[in-house]
Amino acid sequence: MNSSVLTDTPRSSAAAPALRTKAELRAAVADARRAGNTIGLVPTMGYLHEGHLSLIRAARAECGLVVMSLFVNPTQFGPAEDLDRYPRDEQRDLRLAAEAGADLVFAPAVEEVYGPGAATAVEVTGSLTDVLDGDPAHRGPEHFRGVTTVVAKLFNIVDPDVAYFGQKDAQQAVVIRRMARDLDFPVRIEVLPTVREADGLAMSSRNAYLEPADRERATALSRALGAAERGARTGSLGIGLEAARRELAAAAIEPEYLEARDAETLTPVHALEDRPVLVLVAAQVGAARLIDNVLIHPTENT
Ligand code: AMP
Repeated sequence: MNSSVLTDTPRSSAAAPALRTKAELRAAVADARRAGNTIGLVPTMGYLHEGHLSLIRAARAECGLVVMSLFVNPTQFGPAEDLDRYPRDEQRDLRLAAEAGADLVFAPAVEEVYGPGAATAVEVTGSLTDVLDGDPAHRGPEHFRGVTTVVAKLFNIVDPDVAYFGQKDAQQAVVIRRMARDLDFPVRIEVLPTVREADGLAMSSRNAYLEPADRERATALSRALGAAERGARTGSLGIGLEAARRELAAAAIEPEYLEARDAETLTPVHALEDRPVLVLVAAQVGAARLIDNVLIHPTENT
């Protein structure tokens, strides 16, 4: 990086510096900005894998200062969810973040992010959040309220020019784009492709929960999405979804949802026409709740 903030920390060094307070982070960003750098932000909950690293590398290629945030955000976990056992390995994350090109890591404690008496939330309401992961029958509206509140706070704290998100969390990306537009955050949102294991499983920190037999079963999710896309292109969306259901059933996976939605509005779609369609799946596989999706562009239709 070009700024004066951390010039004594070569990029190839073992670990990215971890800043714990908003004040330190703001000061480092202000220095970098004064030195003429653009600021890139990669929000994460840590336990880094190639998916996260692809976002850091993209930020490195475009921005003068690359900030990764590392914060397991309690407000986006439901009471029955895995907050307490969410995998963590900060030392490894700091090393991997540095290797991928992060200049610094904002790794605050929960109390630093949510001060005493915090009573404000940012919520994208309606059809983007009351479906799929926001459906009360699934994770509930609290999930996205937690996500948008923490991302809005990160945008205010870091003030990035560009923020990087993964297509793996397709609904989250749509919701964050909406929030940034609606609240006039002066940030460009970049959404980058899902990074997968060699056998197709979408990388996820939660894959660490999978026992070997469940890890094998979990490959059915990406096979199902592949079948959905093939079916949609060669027959119909309905045929594709049926084929996807069969793939999941063969692996004894009962999806929480498997649905085709308009990629921007998330309204249900029944045919592949002139707009991009997302086929999204969520399922409990052993100890892990997994999500995955495929984006089908109509122009690629054969
Ligand atoms: P998380 O740490 O799971 O909150 O993810 C942090 C960011 O990394 C989010 O923008 C995710 O969408 C993105 N991400 C997670 N897994 C992947 C993946 N397999 N490929 C690309 N991006 C991902």
